[in-house]
Amino acid sequence: MKLLEDRIEKDKVVLPGGVLKVDSFLNHQIDPVLMREMAREFYRLYKDEGVTKVLTIEASGIGIAVPCAEEFGVSVLFAKKAKTANLSDEVYTADVFSYTHKTQNKIFVSKQYLNESDRVLIVDDFLANGQALLGLIDLVRAAGATVVGAGIAVEKGFQNGGKIVRKMGIRVESLAIVDEMKEDGTLSFRKQ
Ligand code: 5GP
Repeated sequence: MKLLEDRIEKDKVVLPGGVLKVDSFLNHQIDPVLMREMAREFYRLYKDEGVTKVLTIEASGIGIAVPCAEEFGVSVLFAKKAKTANLSDEVYTADVFSYTHKTQNKIFVSKQYLNESDRVLIVDDFLANGQALLGLIDLVRAAGATVVGAGIAVEKGFQNGGKIVRKMGIRVESLAIVDEMKEDGTLSFRKQ
């Protein structure tokens, strides 16, 4: 998506360790006009899939998931990061290793908000090694619901997450794929 690629080029900060910082419009300050355009694109891609719920993970996925769910006319459910190990029977849980914080977290959603009739579109800001996405897929499967696919704002194509999840037969649509990121800040986007 040209609009997103241009914005990444304009505002990006490339950090050591392959981290792309886009705090000015996605990960700290949020540009609602850009979020709306991205949401429309996810709707165009998944409109025939009978989506009943948009699932994301707190916190950065929520900004894009909300306008996306509005396009589909459904609710957003965001997985929470658990602060305690003893979660109740009322929740589905999955394990996620955080790329940015280098910690192992449990994530959970209430059983009340996800069930086997749901057709779930998973939305997130970044796809790197795929841990967050795999955890969200686990939650959907624990509920017996169906993953219709994933909508990702920025995929880092030089990491393995996209490959792993597509190999599982899950549709992944990324609005910008960064195939190369040099420490001097140069990026190359995959032609899509
Ligand atoms: P994964 O689980 O695919 O390894 O990483 C995805 C999660 O880590 C995303 O939810 C995102 O919050 C964070 N993340 C991974 N790589 C980056 C990055 O380069 N920049 C930012 N801002 N977040 C990232």
